[in-house]
Amino acid sequence: MRRKAVTAAMAATLLCICVDATAASKTEVDSDAVTALEQGGSEWLSIGRGYSEQRYAPIEQINAGNAGKLGLAWFLDLANDRGLESTPLYSDGVLYGSLAWSRPFAVDARSGTLLWLYDPKVDKSKARRVCCDSVNRGVALWKGKVFIGTLDGRLIALDARSGKPVWQQQTTDAAKPYTITGAPRVVKGKVIIGNSGAEYGVRGYFSAYDADTGRMAWRFYTVPGDPSKPYEQPELAEAAKTWKGGQYWRYGGGGTVWDGMAYDPELDLLYVGTGNGSPWNREVRSPGGGDNLFLSSILAVHPDTGKLAWHYQETPGESWDFTATQQITLADITINGQMRKVLMQAPKNGFFYVLDRKTGKLLSAEKYGKVTWAERVDLATGRPVEAPGVRYENKPIVMWPGSFGAHSWMPMSYSPKTGLVYIPYQEVPGAYRNEGASFEFKPGGFNTGTGFADASALPREATSGALVAWDPARQREAWRVPYPTYWNGGTLATAGNLVFQGRANGQFVAYAADTGSKLWEFDAQTGIIAGAMSYRQDGEQYVAVLAGWGGGIPLVGGDASLAPGVRNISRLLVFKLGGKAQLPPLPSIAAPTRLPIPDHAHDSAALEQGRTLYHQNCGVCHGLGAVSGGVIPDLRHSPIPRTATFDAVVLKGALQSNGMPSFAGVITAEQLTMIQAYVLDAASKEAAPKPAP
Ligand code: CA
Repeated sequence: MRRKAVTAAMAATLLCICVDATAASKTEVDSDAVTALEQGGSEWLSIGRGYSEQRYAPIEQINAGNAGKLGLAWFLDLANDRGLESTPLYSDGVLYGSLAWSRPFAVDARSGTLLWLYDPKVDKSKARRVCCDSVNRGVALWKGKVFIGTLDGRLIALDARSGKPVWQQQTTDAAKPYTITGAPRVVKGKVIIGNSGAEYGVRGYFSAYDADTGRMAWRFYTVPGDPSKPYEQPELAEAAKTWKGGQYWRYGGGGTVWDGMAYDPELDLLYVGTGNGSPWNREVRSPGGGDNLFLSSILAVHPDTGKLAWHYQETPGESWDFTATQQITLADITINGQMRKVLMQAPKNGFFYVLDRKTGKLLSAEKYGKVTWAERVDLATGRPVEAPGVRYENKPIVMWPGSFGAHSWMPMSYSPKTGLVYIPYQEVPGAYRNEGASFEFKPGGFNTGTGFADASALPREATSGALVAWDPARQREAWRVPYPTYWNGGTLATAGNLVFQGRANGQFVAYAADTGSKLWEFDAQTGIIAGAMSYRQDGEQYVAVLAGWGGGIPLVGGDASLAPGVRNISRLLVFKLGGKAQLPPLPSIAAPTRLPIPDHAHDSAALEQGRTLYHQNCGVCHGLGAVSGGVIPDLRHSPIPRTATFDAVVLKGALQSNGMPSFAGVITAEQLTMIQAYVLDAASKEAAPKPAP
C-alpha cells in the first residue's frame, strides 16, 4: 500500500513536472523560439518581432478583405506624460512594453489588466542630456527575464512574471552625458545595449552582458578615443587615421548606437547602426577632414566576441547629424534574378541602402525622398557624390534632408509577400552654418557647431510627411500616401496584405499593402509615433499599438511638427475584428490664456544673445522659436517665465521631479535674464491662434 501510495505521489509529481515543463517550453524565449519566428508563429518576441527585424506578422486572419470590421478590443490608460516609442512584445498571453522614464510594464493580454509596472526611478536631471524626450523604445525578453536600458545608463534584468529586478549594471560613466533610450536585444544569451548622447559630447559604444549574471562580456567602441592612450580594439588604430587635426576625443566624437540592430543566426553576425559625430560639424571636430570612422556606419560583429567582421560607412565625414541608427531590416530578396541575403536601411541621409549582409558590399543606394546634399551614391566606391558647398565651410546652407532625417527612429516594416518596405518618411530641410573658430564646446550642453538655432527660421510649409512603400529590389517607390505633417508613427506589415501606421494627427490607419489604399481608420485621440505589432492569442489575431505623442520633434521641432489639435494621451490600444470597446469622450482643451507680457529687454543684441542661449539650452525640449510641440509646456503661455519663479525652476530645480532639471552651473543668472527676454519677446510676437481644424 505504502509503496503504491508513493508511486501515486511520484506519478502526480511527475505529472506536475511534466505540466510545468510544457508550460516552460511554451514560455521560454530563447534562440530557437526567436529564430523560429522567421518561419511563422503567433508571437512577437523581440522589438522588431524576430532577429530579422522585419516587423512583419505572418498572420492573415485580419486582412485587406475584412479590415473594415476592425474595432477596439480593449485599451489601457497609462500613467505617462512623455512620448511613447516602444513596440509591445507578446509572449504567452502577456504584452510587455515600456513607458517614458524607462519604465517597463507587463499586461495580461486576455483581461487587458496591468500585471506590473517597474519604475527604476531614473535620475530626472538626465532630462537635460536627452536631445529627444525622456523616452524608451522598448524591452527585450529572454528565458523568463525582461531587460530594459534606462535613461541614466543602467541595464536592468527583471523577472518577467513579477517585474522584480534580478540584476542591474551601470553601462555608462554616470558622470558623462550618456543616456539610454533604445531597446536591448538578446543574442545567444548576451544582452546587447548601446547608448545616446552624441549631441552632448560622448564617445559611442555598445556592450554585451551575460543575460543570466549581468557580467559584461565585451564592449565595442565605435570611434577612437584619446590617441595618447592605447586603443581598446585593433581597428580603432586604423579608424583614428580618418580623424584629422583637432581634438575630437575632447568632444567624445559621437557614433552612438542608440537604436537599430539585427542578427543573422546563420551567418552569426550582429548588425548595429552608429550615429552622428560629436559635434555635428566635422570642421570643428576633425578640421583636417577625413571619413571619421565609424560614424554613420553599419557594423557587423561576431556576437560571441564583439570582433568586427565588416563595416560600411553611409555618410563619410558626417557633418549634418546624419545617423545610421535607423531600423535595420534583414531579408532574402531577388535582385536581377539572383537571391541575395541583404541588409536594408533607410537612414536619416535619405538614401535607401541595400547591402550584402555577409560581406557588407553595397548592392544599391537610391534616394527614397527629397535629397539635395548628394547627387547619388557611387556604387564603385560606395561613397556619396556630394553637392557643391554642402559642407557649409564658407556659406550657410539649407538642404534636404536635415538633422531630423528623411526617416528617424520610427520603425519601418518589410512584407515578404509584397516585397515592399514601408517607410515613415518625413520631408524636413536643415539649416547649417559653420561656427568654425567661434565654436565653443560646452560639456554636457547641446553641441552642434552648425548654428542650430537657425533651424527655427525654416518655414513650417517646407515640412511634410508620407508613408512610402519602397521596392528594395528595384530601388524605386511603389506608392506613397502623403501627409501634411511629419513625425508619424512606425509601420507594421502583415500577411493579410495590410500595413498599419499611427499618425501624428491621431489616426491609426490600415492600408492595403500592395496598393496603399486606405481600408480602415480609428481616431486614437492622440498623436501616435510608436510602431504597431500583431499577435494571435486563443486563435484570434490582434493588432496593438502604444498611442501617445512626444519624442524628439514634438519637443525640438516647435510648431513645425505640431499636427493641428494633437495632444498626448498615453494608452495601449488593442484591436481585433468586431472589437466593440470605445474610448471615453475626448475632454476639450481650453485655448491658451493670453498672459500679460512684462517688461523685458528690447535691444536686438540682448535678444539675439537670448535667442542663442535659449536654443543652446532650452530649445531641444521647449521647441525651436519657443514654440511647444504639444508635450512640454509652451513657455509663451506659461506664467513661470513672467515671474521670479523662473529662476527657481531653471536654476534651482524646483520642478525637477516633473522632468525639468536644474541648469545651475550651466546658465548664469545674467544669461537667464536674456533667455527670459527672448521667451517674452516670442510671446509678444505670437500671432493670433490658428483656427481649430
Ligand atoms: Ca543625433
